[in-house]
Amino acid sequence: MRIQILGSAAGGGFPQWNCGCHNCQGLRAGTLRAKERTQTQVAISDDGQEWFLLNASPDVRMQIERTAVLHARNLRHSPISGVLMTSADIDHVAGLLSLRELQPFRIYCTRSLRHILRGDNSIFGMLNRVSRQVCWNDVNLGEKFPLLTTSGCESGISCETFSLGTTYPEYVTADRATELNPKEALLGLILTTSSDRRLAYFPAVPKIHDTLLEVLDSAELLLFDGTFWSDDELIQIQGSPLSAREMGHVPVGGDKGSLRALASLRCRRKLFVHVNNTNPMLDESGPEYQEMQAAGWELAEDGWQLEL
Ligand SMILES: [Zn+2]
Repeated sequence: MRIQILGSAAGGGFPQWNCGCHNCQGLRAGTLRAKERTQTQVAISDDGQEWFLLNASPDVRMQIERTAVLHARNLRHSPISGVLMTSADIDHVAGLLSLRELQPFRIYCTRSLRHILRGDNSIFGMLNRVSRQVCWNDVNLGEKFPLLTTSGCESGISCETFSLGTTYPEYVTADRATELNPKEALLGLILTTSSDRRLAYFPAVPKIHDTLLEVLDSAELLLFDGTFWSDDELIQIQGSPLSAREMGHVPVGGDKGSLRALASLRCRRKLFVHVNNTNPMLDESGPEYQEMQAAGWELAEDGWQLEL
């Protein structure tokens, strides 16, 4: 499997347009040893011809343009055969609106997510203006399904979803939320090649527990939630009323952070994605970055190409 990291920051990107935190200011001024990052976006392919996006970030148009393998090969064409959705977060779904130019592809999502997007948000109707446009494929929790090429053949990659959280985004109305399956609010993905090699894609994880550890341990390559370094990061920096955990992200550092909780995993490579612009781990001269590296992790960067 080929894996392209198209974006590696959390919502807002790095730097974030309205942020003057230490990291964002330092990056703009050139005084911080750190890399600019677009919002988290990953693309995967078995054969290098047909590609699948993991979610659709608000930066997806620019991310596709920066990535030659995703360019059109004739007058109307896209190597993108499908998009897999892990949640209804704006950071994960907004990019679908940038893919509305009458191109046929599949969206793999739960029924709950389909109800939110198609039932309550008419703007997503632009993905189905003509009959041969987007095909919505329902995904059942815990059930393995093949990713299909544009012509409907098996691509060589299959996917299994795991429920990680029960909170829907604020824009989902209270009435609608009562009709949704809470277990479909937030998913992690295990993507398996025909030779049984596994990529675990878990960009938002509210809690680490034994069942999750077992699932992650089965993967050779792990892309994991690196949003915040500490639980009170946003409380300290911008007076946020919510902790990292309350926002649905287990922090990286500290006694109960992911570095310690995932220390026993046997994955060949472990990378953090979805890194918020406030995270001190972005400073490559800082102690947090060194601690992360010393624990055997990498900080994913836009443009990285991985093989599995
Ligand atoms: Zn910032």
